[in-house]
Amino acid sequence: MEKESHNEDISQTDEENESEKKDEVWNVISSQIRKDIGETAWRSWIKPLEFRELKDGVIHISASSKLVRDRVKSHYSDKLRLIAKSLSLPVSALEINWNELSNLMNLSDTPSGKAPRITEMKDKELNRKAVFSTHGLDPRFTFSNFFVGKPNELAFAAARRVVESATAAFNPLFLYSGVGLGKTHLMHAIAWEINSRQPNRKVMYLSAEKFMYRFIQALRHKDTMTFKEQFRSVDVLMIDDVQFISGKESTQEEFFHTFNALVDDGKQVVLSADKSPTDLSGMEERLRSRLGWGMVADIHATTYELRLGILISKRDTVAVSVPDAVLEFLAHKITSNIRELEGAFNRIVAHASLVGRTITVEMARETLSDLIRASSRRVTIDDIQKQVSKHFSIRTSDMFSARRARSIARPRQIAMYLAKNLTTSSYPEIGRKFGGRDHTTIMHAVKKVEELLIHDSEMSDDVELLRSLLSDN
Ligand code: ADP
Ligand code: MG
Repeated sequence: MEKESHNEDISQTDEENESEKKDEVWNVISSQIRKDIGETAWRSWIKPLEFRELKDGVIHISASSKLVRDRVKSHYSDKLRLIAKSLSLPVSALEINWNELSNLMNLSDTPSGKAPRITEMKDKELNRKAVFSTHGLDPRFTFSNFFVGKPNELAFAAARRVVESATAAFNPLFLYSGVGLGKTHLMHAIAWEINSRQPNRKVMYLSAEKFMYRFIQALRHKDTMTFKEQFRSVDVLMIDDVQFISGKESTQEEFFHTFNALVDDGKQVVLSADKSPTDLSGMEERLRSRLGWGMVADIHATTYELRLGILISKRDTVAVSVPDAVLEFLAHKITSNIRELEGAFNRIVAHASLVGRTITVEMARETLSDLIRASSRRVTIDDIQKQVSKHFSIRTSDMFSARRARSIARPRQIAMYLAKNLTTSSYPEIGRKFGGRDHTTIMHAVKKVEELLIHDSEMSDDVELLRSLLSDN
């Protein structure tokens, strides 16, 4: 998962769909002039303008009346031209229409009046977007959709603190966890919330990969000044998955300077990674230690309660009925991370509505057979031996020993039974793990435990508890 490459020259294409988002350029200009001319004038003259398209560097706008068009031409054309220029937007002219009439307000800032080269346009346009818009933020990743439990309560509280304070709460807020446990969700939630509570605080969210990509573009276009200005003009900078820049020296260097400049300025920085700052190998020492100065919050592996809670709230969002037993089954079986848990849930819901089946535990087990096998493979015989020894308060070494006392032999047989049921190991493999026992010994033990389970309720409680402890980590 960790990128090994030290080559910073990536040929990544930006997934943002530019053609759909060109109106963003107009929104940027519009919100900028709103600050300049004040709310009343903006509502009267700029708001009624309707963006039509941005083509070859020309913004086409419709005015609602001749009056509006004339007023904009006479009072605001210079301002609009200056704003477009100061923001380095890919706009060379603005065309404003009213009815059939069309007028061209020349905002040209290139001598020929032609649009700047397409490639340059694209990068600049993309750069501005991240500052001013919520593009790229997932609308589902909000605080209200984030289920809080023991494993993530610290990270959640820290994220709330960031949005509740008007200045930097702690710098940086550093979130870390394994994959699929909610880092990106929390970061987007912070961005959404600041956007709605304090709309004049400029928030920039991007992945470390994109940060690097932009930096390389800036180097290529010999335009690092613009790059620096853009990053240093934000109030809240959020960079996701910073482990990505491990080993990438010049990007790290630039990141370090950006980071320090923002922190010195009292701006909030929020970072995420798959490891704690101290464990980020491939990061320069001074950067690593600096990253740990603020608030470091990790999200722990999920617990059964958290998984069940998330599933219950997901159930409220779907039309089909999902019985409690199915949610419990999923919470029990899909333990790796929340992304997979959601994936499993969505799969059974989709399956049920496609083939018109009611959702039952059996149906879920069938639909998810591949996932369930994959996740049970993760329990090892070592885990089983440790867990069982602990449960019966015997030494782990007794799992391999030849001692035959019932108080030891019985737990050992239970461990063998669980090894057969929870892993894909064969009898001979299991035998080897239990001190080199013969496969027939293991077969005998499994059979014995199966028989006992039918009548011995104490034993079956023990086994059920162990089974759930083992699939719950
Ligand atoms: P990460 O960035 O740590 O890899 P994500 O933030 O992308 O993980 O989360 C993976 C998925 O799990 C997302 O769909 C997210 O909405 C969901 N998720 C994670 N944590 C929670 C939570 N506490 N409550 C609800 N959904 C969550
Ligand atoms: Mg993520």
